[in-house]
Amino acid sequence: MNTPSAPVALSSTDSAEPAAGGAAPALVAAFEAAYARELAQSSHGPTAQAVLNAASLACRELLASRWASTQAQDAKRGLKATVRRVHYLSMEFLMGRALSNALAALGLTSALEAKLAATGQSLGEVLEREPDAALGNGGLGRLAACFLDSFAELGLPSFGYGLRYRYGTFAQVIQQGRQLEQPDDWTRDTPPWEMPRFDLRFKVGFGGRIHVDAAGVHHWEPAEEIEAQAYDFIVPAHHTERVATLRQWQATAAPIAFGAFCQGDYSRAARHQVLADAINWVLYPDDSTEEGRMLRLKQEAFLVSASLQDLVARHLREFGELQSLGRANAIHLNDTHPALAPAELMRLLMDEHGMAWAEAWKITSQAIAYTNHTLMPEALETWPVRMFEVLLPRHLDIIYRINHEFLVELRQRFPDDEALASRVSLIDEGWGHGSERRVRMASLALVASHRVNGVAALHSELMVQTIFADYAKVWPERFHNVTNGVTPRRWLQQANPKLSALIDGAIGTEWRRDLAELSKLSAHAKDGALGDAFLAVKRANKERLAERIRRDLGVVVSVDSLFDIQIKRIHEYKRQLLNLLHVISRYQAICDNPGADWVPRVVVIAGKAASAYQMAKSIVRLAHDVGRVINSDPRVGNKLKLVFLPNYSVTLAESIIPAADLSEQISTAGTEASGTGNMKFGMNGALTIGTWDGANIEMAEHMGPENMFVFGLRADAVAKIKSLGYDPRLYVEQNAQLKRVIDAISQGDFSHGDTERYRGLVDNLLERDPYLLMADFADYVATQAKVDALFRDRRGWAERALRNIAGMGWFSSDRTITEYVDRVWSLDSLNH
Ligand SMILES: *Cc1c(COP(=O)(O)O)cnc(C)c1O
Repeated sequence: MNTPSAPVALSSTDSAEPAAGGAAPALVAAFEAAYARELAQSSHGPTAQAVLNAASLACRELLASRWASTQAQDAKRGLKATVRRVHYLSMEFLMGRALSNALAALGLTSALEAKLAATGQSLGEVLEREPDAALGNGGLGRLAACFLDSFAELGLPSFGYGLRYRYGTFAQVIQQGRQLEQPDDWTRDTPPWEMPRFDLRFKVGFGGRIHVDAAGVHHWEPAEEIEAQAYDFIVPAHHTERVATLRQWQATAAPIAFGAFCQGDYSRAARHQVLADAINWVLYPDDSTEEGRMLRLKQEAFLVSASLQDLVARHLREFGELQSLGRANAIHLNDTHPALAPAELMRLLMDEHGMAWAEAWKITSQAIAYTNHTLMPEALETWPVRMFEVLLPRHLDIIYRINHEFLVELRQRFPDDEALASRVSLIDEGWGHGSERRVRMASLALVASHRVNGVAALHSELMVQTIFADYAKVWPERFHNVTNGVTPRRWLQQANPKLSALIDGAIGTEWRRDLAELSKLSAHAKDGALGDAFLAVKRANKERLAERIRRDLGVVVSVDSLFDIQIKRIHEYKRQLLNLLHVISRYQAICDNPGADWVPRVVVIAGKAASAYQMAKSIVRLAHDVGRVINSDPRVGNKLKLVFLPNYSVTLAESIIPAADLSEQISTAGTEASGTGNMKFGMNGALTIGTWDGANIEMAEHMGPENMFVFGLRADAVAKIKSLGYDPRLYVEQNAQLKRVIDAISQGDFSHGDTERYRGLVDNLLERDPYLLMADFADYVATQAKVDALFRDRRGWAERALRNIAGMGWFSSDRTITEYVDRVWSLDSLNH
């Protein structure tokens, strides 16, 4: 694959920008012009918002020329290229802010800082005004964003494809301890980063009928057509002039509505407009209604169709034929949300371009690959056949044919195994459970892909042993693992400039281009002066977070405390509740013995609960109730604080993670596919308390398990306990400490005596406890005591933290993408 070109000289200041070359004057000139325009258009005078817009537009102009040359290079690469162009299809991209990343990539941070200083404004304040582009929920969407960063950095010919949602994930507001969801209208101020591409429009059809002509060609006449228009978002490399593109589709009513309009049928024209707009309204339509579910399926079909039409048109333009499409292009499905892709590509190749089935299928399976992100069987997406009949009749035909061909082949290889055939069929006939017939999207993705991968070693292993065991028997060679990674540009260099400068001083700057270089730090782990400097950096980052906690929540915390942090989606399997049980237990122990020598702790939790997920919302409320009681108890003081920071986002993560001493990665073993938050913390020198789950395992292997606080049942033990019949009450009866914690919650100690508020939550723990909190509690608490003991030994702690950072080089998304190229996207991967 392309390797980044010659190293760029890096300065060793905090920002350590690549040399800007001649770009600084260009930026300043573009900024001045844009700023003058902003002022002319604004009635508010020289505001930080005007500066933000002008700076973004100025960067965008510079990036646009990089974009043009990147496209020109890629178009010339020709058929001999061994690297295929990658099309990464994802319903979510959690990009976060863009300006500081663009300035760092362009090497222009100081130029703009100087320019602003002259006008009396601070760059920091300007950067704070940019809204997060939060078009995703959590790890899966953030992974897609990290991958775009690595596509650019590694110079991989590529496109990310997504939808341009008007409202991404909701904004979380806390009112009296409860989560409220509010719309996050992130495009209100017209995001200056996007480049509308009025030249790129494609029609996407829904419904209607199909007729077959004398030559056997299918003609689909959709009942409704919606136009997709592209908006490009440019993601720059940091050490070359390459960029990656995120192309997001905006739906608009196709011109047929104009006919209705001209005939005076305004309501039909308006209805058509509304139907089109709805596609871009929200990230996840409410799936408790039939309309909501239909809308979601339409969104998926819209993303897939527009993206593949774009791909096919580009390939035809560059190569003049379609036979080589599968060899020149990879189409990657980020989970099953875009799993309609094989059906749509078959439709385009056959119905629109006259290709025969066999050839179209060969091309399709060369192009497509799929990443699975969860083992929970209930999370495997299926859609009623009935909805396909209404919305996607031609795709349903094609899916039936794919299934037919697949089952014929399967029965030849595994005769007399009808049970197998019905388990792997693309259609769930609904026999066993007496419900309607459904299309299994994961099966469609699996049948069409030449490669399928999980996202961490354990997850990939369990994937072929559990949910995909049948398919793994049919195609063992298809299944692989590619462990996730995160971009060190955003998550270390930008989020933690002080630590980055410290690392530069210890091992030089090469790690900024090749994160594996971090391993050189282990030779310095025992260097006391470096350890002290590390602790000083950590302390400065903690002061920043403490200030934020004081400002936003009115809670004063001491930076001498151990900062113990759990930030991620609120979900039962991630076990924020286990964290709270430990906090309550510690609180009770402090009250029993306030004079003892406690290691002071600040426990920080952040995360959003899905709006319909009552148990998760109850956990958010409990966190607030417990925090209120502890933080105001005079016996406790600085020995323990619990705070919940609202509205978790990429930007919030960037400010919290550098301040963490302890990273909580405590999912029930076998449930967290990989995790990526764990990696961000590790790079920033937090120690991990975690279960033997997801990528925690590989992190422990890279840094040495003695440098991580590992606790809890392992995945095999979890499975065994469950199969033997798990009784959570036994654990509670045998552990007085645990019983006391549960009693306190039930008796209303944290809910003003209200014994109803947490009844459901407690009953669930005592009766079912599907995530084995009761079984892991004792070991978790004992391991937290080991954390305290090490924290008292400041030098020992610093040494471990440095060893953690040294072990994290492998977890760069650059390494992940290099592996995808080798194992999934290369031409070699097509020859097995
Ligand atoms: C990294 C990240 C996640 C994923 O966190 P996990 O701890 O791996 O679940 C979710 N949301 C945001 C905003 C992130 O930055």
